[in-house]
Amino acid sequence: MRSAVLAWFRRDLRLGDNPAWADATSSADAVAALVVVEPPLLAAAGRWRRQAYLAALDGLDQSLRESGAALWVAVGDPAEVVPRVAEQIGAARVVVNADVTRWSTARDRKVSQALAVPMVGHWGTVVHPPGSVLTTAKTLSRVFTPFYKRWVQATLPPAAYSGSAKILDPPQEFTIAATLKDLTSDSWNERQALDQVTGWLNRVNTYHDRRDQFAEAGTSRLSVALHFGLVSPRYLAEVLDTENDGGASFVRQLAWRDWYTHLTAEHPDIDRVSLRPQFERIEWTSGPEAEARFCAWRDGMTGYPIVDCAMRELAATGWMHNRLRMIAASFLVKDLLVDWRWGERWFRRMLADGDLAQNAGNWQWVAGTGPDAAPYFRIFNPVVQSRRFDPQGNHLRRWLPELTRLTDHDIHAPWQATPLDLAAAGVTLDCEYPSPIVDHAEARKQTIAAYQQAISQTR
Ligand SMILES: Cc1cc2nc3c(=O)[nH]c(=O)nc-3n(C[C@H](O)[C@H](O)[C@H](O)COP(=O)(O)OP(=O)(O)OC[C@H]3O[C@@H](n4cnc5c(N)ncnc54)[C@H](O)[C@@H]3O)c2cc1C
Repeated sequence: MRSAVLAWFRRDLRLGDNPAWADATSSADAVAALVVVEPPLLAAAGRWRRQAYLAALDGLDQSLRESGAALWVAVGDPAEVVPRVAEQIGAARVVVNADVTRWSTARDRKVSQALAVPMVGHWGTVVHPPGSVLTTAKTLSRVFTPFYKRWVQATLPPAAYSGSAKILDPPQEFTIAATLKDLTSDSWNERQALDQVTGWLNRVNTYHDRRDQFAEAGTSRLSVALHFGLVSPRYLAEVLDTENDGGASFVRQLAWRDWYTHLTAEHPDIDRVSLRPQFERIEWTSGPEAEARFCAWRDGMTGYPIVDCAMRELAATGWMHNRLRMIAASFLVKDLLVDWRWGERWFRRMLADGDLAQNAGNWQWVAGTGPDAAPYFRIFNPVVQSRRFDPQGNHLRRWLPELTRLTDHDIHAPWQATPLDLAAAGVTLDCEYPSPIVDHAEARKQTIAAYQQAISQTR
């Protein structure tokens, strides 16, 4: 009798270098490729992440059709759908690439229990799997650099090659056309993502010099493809030439990505709890004042152009450069003294690459609450950052049309411009553009005091 395996895709929407798919197609005679669209996850994703996900599903369907058959797609609870499809095709096993979030581990437990056949997990969304890069004491390092030293020396897992199993076509009710109907308009597949990688390999040599210049295209913009698994991070680590500074610096970022994934596997509450417990005692701004501050930040109306341009770009495109993410996050936490968790939730919803492990890990880094975080007293000066990384104000002008006519010097801090210069540029503060919501120097002092108080209460 012919053996069958069900490959259930989640955040690994590619066929190449995909350990679960390689296992399924090389261990059985027949394979069905299934995606279960989970309504709560779709609802939690903002417009940009949802669009990218649906486009990637369409792309996976296309890639599969080129290999012989279409994707099976269902909308609903995987604990109901996966066992049903497994039974329908007579699967002896279900294979997946594992994930580390609370949601995914609870879901997988539930599905496993509901299945009559085993569910086998692989790792296809990281370079090195959680638990495989440890200190001599067999623990996960709480400091990045020692983690990185071990990570970079660890042997890369082997590439995963697809086998020759026959791919089973879905019945009509499970086709993408029947299931997602009008939801998918765009298509985005792994071949396009690999073209993006090829383009990036031609530019990566200058990455270390240009990665902070947010007005330029100095980074790979591969994070969305990595989040949905259109690109294998293992493959990236393999093809990048770490003999040059750009390649080495880029691969180090992949190690940060792995580190936050490994931390999340150990601390699934990373988005809820400060990993330095003393900072659970910080007295954040609260009540209507906190809400007003958060809304001004969210809407790009703080009066600090660098923060406002970043937040408006996020809302309009689902994208923000890493340097801007650091500046905007720092401003919410350390200038407005608003709890980092509020910002983490907003970013995760709005970013096309919104990812619990990466987002919460980075927010805790910025807030100083993570294990190897920026010290709490390191507070970005938004005007200094703005002048340093976008001296001509090109990015500011793109997202803040009301400020375009200010000079290259004044656009970073309109409240410091003379009344004549403001008038010449057509800007009246609190009319076209807000005055600063807080005074940075004053806010900095208050934040340091709030953090110090939290520390002193712990002693
Ligand atoms: C407050 C804040 C929130 C963030 N939220 C997310 C998020 O939700 N999802 C997400 O993927 N990244 C997040 N990052 C990390 C980083 O900003 C993005 O990965 C990066 O900007 C994506 O652009 P890129 O692909 O051009 O990156 P590149 O500079 O080209 O880097 C290559 C890849 O390395 C990884 N990487 C780069 N920087 C980091 C980092 N600091 N931490 C972890 N991985 C990194 C990403 O996968 C990225 O695609 C966040 C950073 C901050 C400061």
